Amino acid sequence: MKKLLLVTAAVVAAVAVLVAVTAPPRALRLVPATDGTIPGILHVHTNRSDGLSGPDEIAAAAARAGLKFVVFTDHGDATRRPDPPQYRSGVLCLDAVEISTSGGHYIAMDMPASPYPLAGEARDVVEDVRRLGGFGIAAHPDSPKPELKWREWSAPFDAIELLNPDTAWRQWLDEAKSSDAKWSARKRLIAALFDYRYRPAEVIASLIQPSRAVMNWESATRRRRVVAIAGADAHAKIAPRNADPGDSRFALPFPGYEPSFRVLSVHVRTDRPLSGANASADASVLMRAIRGGHLYTAVDAVATPGSFEFTASNEHGTVHAGDELGAGGPMTLTVHSNAPAAFTTSIWKGASVLSGDHHDQEFSVGTTGEPAVYWVEIRATGQPNPLTWIRSNAIYVRGSTGAATAVARPTATVREAIFDGKTANGWRTEHDPTSVAAVETAPLVNSADLRLRYGLAGGASVGQVVALVYDTPRGIAASDRFSFSIRAEHPMRVSVQLRSGGAGGEQQRWQRSIYADTVQQEHTIYFDDLTRVEPTAPLRPDLAAVRSILFVVDATNTRPGDSGRIWIRSAALEH
Ligand SMILES: [Zn+2]
Ligand SMILES: [Zn+2]
Repeated sequence: MKKLLLVTAAVVAAVAVLVAVTAPPRALRLVPATDGTIPGILHVHTNRSDGLSGPDEIAAAAARAGLKFVVFTDHGDATRRPDPPQYRSGVLCLDAVEISTSGGHYIAMDMPASPYPLAGEARDVVEDVRRLGGFGIAAHPDSPKPELKWREWSAPFDAIELLNPDTAWRQWLDEAKSSDAKWSARKRLIAALFDYRYRPAEVIASLIQPSRAVMNWESATRRRRVVAIAGADAHAKIAPRNADPGDSRFALPFPGYEPSFRVLSVHVRTDRPLSGANASADASVLMRAIRGGHLYTAVDAVATPGSFEFTASNEHGTVHAGDELGAGGPMTLTVHSNAPAAFTTSIWKGASVLSGDHHDQEFSVGTTGEPAVYWVEIRATGQPNPLTWIRSNAIYVRGSTGAATAVARPTATVREAIFDGKTANGWRTEHDPTSVAAVETAPLVNSADLRLRYGLAGGASVGQVVALVYDTPRGIAASDRFSFSIRAEHPMRVSVQLRSGGAGGEQQRWQRSIYADTVQQEHTIYFDDLTRVEPTAPLRPDLAAVRSILFVVDATNTRPGDSGRIWIRSAALEH
């Protein structure tokens, strides 16, 4: 008996030593200084998609972690009506959706259900979310998994997730698999697995690596406001072997929700306090502040609770992080925080540090105040992993010329109509064996519309497709764009495609998806703006080899079983 006690004591002592040697330090407890912000977390998966638990359980975990709001982001195509905002365990719960696009994952919040599935190219999903009035977040841009990682930098996304602990796990797993440093990565992960049960949040934070996407964010802010945000990407399980949302066959039941919620938080500065009772009203107050970029992110597993404020003043007044300020003479930038003295605060101006190496909790910096984007980063220097503890949003100082805008295309001078406004000559349809399609003209007073009637076969999505086709046997090398006007029976997306080859040759397609509204709208598609459909096709079409122009309705953005009509009033090749 005595021997057993001795052995037990020895084991306990050994574990204590191991934890002391390998585990990251406990989060620093800071003097609570209320900065008036509301702490919460975004990007949480429930058991509606690949998360472990239901909303009630998750909200209770968030409440234990001291959070006031949670944004659920189950995987989906945005056709499900989001649950109305609701208080659970005193935590305001919002329901959003994480959409898979060909350019990475996009989180859409604060919008109604979409009338058709949102999918396909990232730029189109960004456009659809915006049209629906939603707020979109480019998810995990630092993910090592190309299927997940946000890659569409030219699309006008509203916000970007510069901190995502799920990405941190995946980065280490990736390194442990293949990199030159795989043995040190493996040792690091084994230590993390061992220490996790003693200091879970600290262990997760210790794996966070610097975000490379910060520079993509900075470059996007030169043209427009982009909210810098963080996501927990909490599932309460990790599935290292796969990247496919929804597939969790090899999942391990950690990191749990509560430890994930203790890793980081998003602190939102609302323009009035939340009632704590009226969930819908509180959700609008919260969303207004999030959309305005009135927030900062904090890694609580390093030091908690954070307190932070960043303002800029010039002759036009004083603004907070997230706001725009007209350029006007000298400007003073002021930072307040409760950062420990060992931490380092830097004020950035665009991509370079304007004023670094501050260790005071309160300081001001005078500048010439020229147009630029100013933001603050507080790094946990003096800690084993000196990661960014707090990141502000930007203050946008704009000159009278405003932000840079896109260059307009020259007007077309030559126009070759491919619809005569009277007959359907030259037009035909194609469809898969189970779907139906017909082309005809719909008479107007002195002319006619070209009309496609279609019915996609129902059931599972198995490549249902219908197309309105115009053949161009001699190619379209004389043109650089295609203009048309279109309307649809109900809001939908139509893929306009060029197809080469055929009749023995290999068919290849390039596409640009457009939104067709119930009112007639003009569209111009530039051939240098198309993307290939088959991944093996050349990036750009050889216009001389194009044999058909198609309006395609398929299961990417149309539900199987859907039917409807599309009207084309004019269609012309131009240059
Ligand atoms: Zn994702
Ligand atoms: Zn996710």
